[in-house]
Amino acid sequence: MSLNRRNLLKFGAISVAAAATMAGCNKEAVPTKVSNSSAASASAVLGKHKVVVIGGGFGGLSVAKGLRKKDKSLDVLVIEKNETFMSCPYSNALLGKLDGVDFGTLIHDYAQPVEEHGYGMLHAEVTNIDRAAKQVHTTKGVVEYEILVLSPGIAYDYENQFKSWDAEKIKHIKRVAPGALISGKEHVILERNLSDMEDGDVIITIPEGKFRCPPAPFERASMIATYMEKEEIEGKVIILNPSAKMAKGPAFKESWEELHGDRIEHMDYCKITDVDPIAKTVTYLDESDDDAVVSKTIKYEVLNLIPNNKANPVVEMSGVKTTTSFGKVVMNGCSFQTKTDPDIYAVGDVVGHAIPPSGQTATWAAKQCVEEIFNRLEGKSYTLPVKTSTAKSANICYSIVGDKPKEAIFVTHDFTWNGKVIKSKGHVPKAPSGKFRSAPNAKATSDWYNGIMRDLFA
Ligand SMILES: Cc1cc2nc3c(=O)[nH]c(=O)nc-3n(C[C@H](O)[C@H](O)[C@H](O)COP(=O)(O)OP(=O)(O)OC[C@H]3O[C@@H](n4cnc5c(N)ncnc54)[C@H](O)[C@@H]3O)c2cc1C
Repeated sequence: MSLNRRNLLKFGAISVAAAATMAGCNKEAVPTKVSNSSAASASAVLGKHKVVVIGGGFGGLSVAKGLRKKDKSLDVLVIEKNETFMSCPYSNALLGKLDGVDFGTLIHDYAQPVEEHGYGMLHAEVTNIDRAAKQVHTTKGVVEYEILVLSPGIAYDYENQFKSWDAEKIKHIKRVAPGALISGKEHVILERNLSDMEDGDVIITIPEGKFRCPPAPFERASMIATYMEKEEIEGKVIILNPSAKMAKGPAFKESWEELHGDRIEHMDYCKITDVDPIAKTVTYLDESDDDAVVSKTIKYEVLNLIPNNKANPVVEMSGVKTTTSFGKVVMNGCSFQTKTDPDIYAVGDVVGHAIPPSGQTATWAAKQCVEEIFNRLEGKSYTLPVKTSTAKSANICYSIVGDKPKEAIFVTHDFTWNGKVIKSKGHVPKAPSGKFRSAPNAKATSDWYNGIMRDLFA
């Protein structure tokens, strides 16, 4: 690696920090209808609201906006722990150092939709939910609700995945090898680790079981390979996958082979067991041969350890019935109301429907949830129209696979609801060229991202 590149990258890192600050990372507060003052006591009752939404992400912001669009006088409060929004979608483009993408592309200001749509926002962390009293306890006080919507997203499950690790080790690994499936500082650290890297391998580990945005780690591999090629960094992107499952698998594999040669190495049935952050090594069980399971240790220069996922603890706090494996909310039939409590709804990655956990799905679910809540408040009932029972391309998820020319692949999912839960069926189309990837797909990726950000923030 040349000295020039390293200096340039350091300069780049400074620009990123400046961009984050300018975009509002360090700003104190956004306008709220509820006090944002940290002086408020955690036990003080701050007020009662018709609809309280937990989580100012893709699902939560869409519910709040949707309800206020239906009725400008509706009292809606969003509780969000972060003061600034940062997007996970499109964050891999930042790692690929694609032209025109920086942290400013991902960071958005909550003041904008609050002012535009007039819902309230309390920046506080939810610490408990008392369903009997219909109260949400937060670090800034207690909020009472008539209707509660849960959209808190995911959490990591290091504790069950790495049973021999103590809290100190988990904290350290989280910091030096962040998963970057939850937006915020994890992406900043991963980007910095890549910008500072010398020649060597980048290891990405895939979680076991269900996880947020299943194509995301493989898009990330494509973008890190792109970055390494641009910067002439010698080394590979090694993906340790505990199974052979891979979202958009044939499309990624075709693109990797044709665009990145042998730069990306995808290893099936390789389950991470330990990390030594001093020696910079990962130990894993190679289970690809049933008869000869071997423990192997390999060195990394940068590690993106994506831990197993689970539903955000807010779901458990609410006491609603959940699925055993991930802790998703068990839904009331093909609805976004929970099965346990008619006054609690859920959208986003925590819903128990068989639909993909994506930002696009979260906004689709939010629209249905808004219809249900609005009609209920009008004294009417609302269910998904049984006559049509299908939403074509309700989810669409793009992945950028290369730069110059910028190309992407995508999957679409049709949703159906003629059974007990909403289900989905995915399809990864080929472009007219006969290949999965194309430049128009890449244009559609940025158009999709800009459109959904406009939808949430304008
Ligand atoms: C790298 C990457 C790429 C992706 N690309 C795409 C893509 O191209 N297309 C797509 O459709 N999806 C994509 N996704 C998936 C998408 O980001 C998620 O599916 C989506 O964010 C889910 O929305 P949500 O509302 O459930 O959760 P989130 O958007 O995560 O929102 C949850 C919010 O709740 C807040 N919160 C959590 N706990 C508390 C608490 N205790 N108190 C207060 N607030 C709390 C969080 O701070 C957060 O703001 C991608 C994800 C990743 C990681």
